[in-house]
Amino acid sequence: MIQIDTNDAVSKSSRSIRHVTRNPKLLGLSATEFALVRLLRHRGPTSPNEVADALQLTKPTCARLVVRMANTGWITQAGQNKSNNGRPSILWDIVPQSAYVAGLTVGVGKMIAAVADLAGNLVTRAERSFGTDAGAEVFADTAVSLLREVLTGAKITSSHPLLGVGVTAPGMLDRRQGKLEFCAHYRDVDWWRGFPLVSELRAATSAPIFLDYQSNMRTLGEHWFGRNRGIGDMLYISVEMHGVGAGMLVDGQIYRGTGGNAGEFGHMTIEKNGRVCRCGSSGCIETYISGKEIVRKSQELRQAGCVSAIFEGLKETATPTVRRIIDTAVAGDRTACGILEETGNVLGIGIANLVNLLNPALIVIGGELAGAGDLLLISVSGVVKRRALERQAAEVQIVCADSSPDDMVRGAIATVLHETFGSPCNSRIWNEHNVDSKP
Ligand SMILES: [Zn+2]
Repeated sequence: MIQIDTNDAVSKSSRSIRHVTRNPKLLGLSATEFALVRLLRHRGPTSPNEVADALQLTKPTCARLVVRMANTGWITQAGQNKSNNGRPSILWDIVPQSAYVAGLTVGVGKMIAAVADLAGNLVTRAERSFGTDAGAEVFADTAVSLLREVLTGAKITSSHPLLGVGVTAPGMLDRRQGKLEFCAHYRDVDWWRGFPLVSELRAATSAPIFLDYQSNMRTLGEHWFGRNRGIGDMLYISVEMHGVGAGMLVDGQIYRGTGGNAGEFGHMTIEKNGRVCRCGSSGCIETYISGKEIVRKSQELRQAGCVSAIFEGLKETATPTVRRIIDTAVAGDRTACGILEETGNVLGIGIANLVNLLNPALIVIGGELAGAGDLLLISVSGVVKRRALERQAAEVQIVCADSSPDDMVRGAIATVLHETFGSPCNSRIWNEHNVDSKP
């Protein structure tokens, strides 16, 4: 954390402006220079007068700052607009390639790594398959060499530094220790629990490494790059094959809870005497709506003699995928539509509870189920409208995520930007008197 306060020679405000970057010297900038980069990163093209107002600098100080930062290549001219006196004013913006951020995501049998510039444009990207049978050492070597590969491909130098690497892996993590904990996919892999992923990756970079949960990274990916980016009170509900999770953004900050493990939406009880859950409780929402449960539901219907396009050409012993069920529903199959409707109804109950509790402006549904789009949203939204309190229900927008294979790595990249610059929704702190509190 750094602060600009009354001790800062160029600040004329008694009000402190806090930043979240953990290592501003990594950028080779003074606090005020960093403040300018942060302002332009959040606001886009801005005139010197607006910079002076936002950073509370005198105009001559601001002019010197702008010239200095342009000479060092951090900012550049980005067109002009008309100022209040009608004369054209040059706009300034960051040079996206003035610094870089990286992400490394471990999935099921595959790792993806990428480097992006400050605007989030991917500069290099690579992926590698891995098996856990070869042992911890091979796994570590694979991760380190993959990260090295993408870092080498980007033009990272001391004047165009790497701000950090966002890292994630499935399942539970020990963020403080930088270690993997438990993952259902790798429950039989003896070295997984306690594997020191962060310290292993230090072999590839000395930049800060931010380890975080997949759901939090997806949340920040939406917050920085999604269709509805910049909304500070949002939830990302991820419905995956084996479980359901949530990332919660409250006033632009990830809500983690006291032990860092908040967001276990999948274990919200929705049925008093419901099915037994893997967590040991019963009636948890994920025992009704995870990908595994959707597939199980279809199998039950098949065994009961239901005729559906879901099962056409599928061997008696084969199980349909969630993707197949969604595609069949999109094609109009009534059974598949019924499965998704039922899933949406249950998901809607859980979401209605969250809407009442947290009053978010946006809920993004992601994961495998998001591909169902409107087929799912109609039932989810209907239930939320009926069950949540009227005002909170009217204030929330519920959408499905646009899924891409690079969602997670973009979330990892967004995590580094978030840790460095703070939430884009908090750009109001630059001028609390003149800027609306919500984007
Ligand atoms: Zn549970």
